[in-house]
Amino acid sequence: MEANQKYLLEIHKKINNNIEELRSYAEENAVPIVDRLSLEMIKQLIRIHKATNILEIGTAIGYSSMHFASISPTINVTTIERDDNMINQAKLNFKNYGYNNQITLLEGDAFEQLEKVNNKTYDIIFIDAAKAQSKKFFEYFTPFLRKGGLVITDNVLYHGFVSDIDIVRSRNVKQMVKKVQKFNTWLIDQENYQTNFLNMDDGLAISIKGE
Ligand code: SAH
Ligand code: MG
Repeated sequence: MEANQKYLLEIHKKINNNIEELRSYAEENAVPIVDRLSLEMIKQLIRIHKATNILEIGTAIGYSSMHFASISPTINVTTIERDDNMINQAKLNFKNYGYNNQITLLEGDAFEQLEKVNNKTYDIIFIDAAKAQSKKFFEYFTPFLRKGGLVITDNVLYHGFVSDIDIVRSRNVKQMVKKVQKFNTWLIDQENYQTNFLNMDDGLAISIKGE
C-alpha cells in the first residue's frame, strides 16, 4: 500500500466507532463494503452538506448506512438491497447497533422500489450496487434528488481496470468495466451536474445537481 494512504488509515483508526468491527467481518467474507478513506470522505460531505435524507442503492450488511446514520440522530437513511442473505444480516445489524429508527431498509431490486422512495426528496444519493448499472440507477433515482443535492458513486475506477482495461482477462468483467467507462464519460457530460472524480481507493465520483 502506498505510504501516504497507509499513514492516513492509521490516524483514522484512532477515531473509530463500534460499527468498524464489521469491516473485518466483511473482509473475511468478501462483502464489498466501501473503502475506509472513501467512507471518511463521504461522511465529511454529509456533514458539510448538512444532509438529513440519504438514499443508498446497495446495503450489503448495512456497514455504510450505519456509518452515515452515526453522524447525527437527525439523519435518515433509506437503503435498498436485493440479496436475501445480505438483507437478513443488515436487519440484524440495524437492530443490534440500534439504528432501526434512523434507517429504512427496502427489500428487493432497486428498480422495483421507485414508488417507495418517491414520497421524499433526498439530499444525497449514494450509488453502490451492481457496477454495470450505475447509469441506470442514476437515471431512475436522481428525479428524487433535491436541487443542489449530491450523487456519490462508488467504484468508478473499479480495481484499476477502468483506466487499464487491457489487463482484464474475463469477458464478463471486461463488459462490466466497459460500462463503468461509459458511465464515467456520460456522467462528466451531464449538463445539469458538476462532477468531480476522486483518485482515492476504488474511485469515487461526486456530482452536484444544478439549480
Ligand atoms: N454500500 C455497502 C456495500 C454494498 S455492496 C457498504 O459500503 O457497506 C453492493 C450491494 O448491492 C450487494 O449487496 C448487492 O446485492 C446489491 N445490489 C446490486 N444490485 C442491486 C439492485 N439492482 N438492487 C438492489 N440491490 C442491489
Ligand atoms: Mg462500493
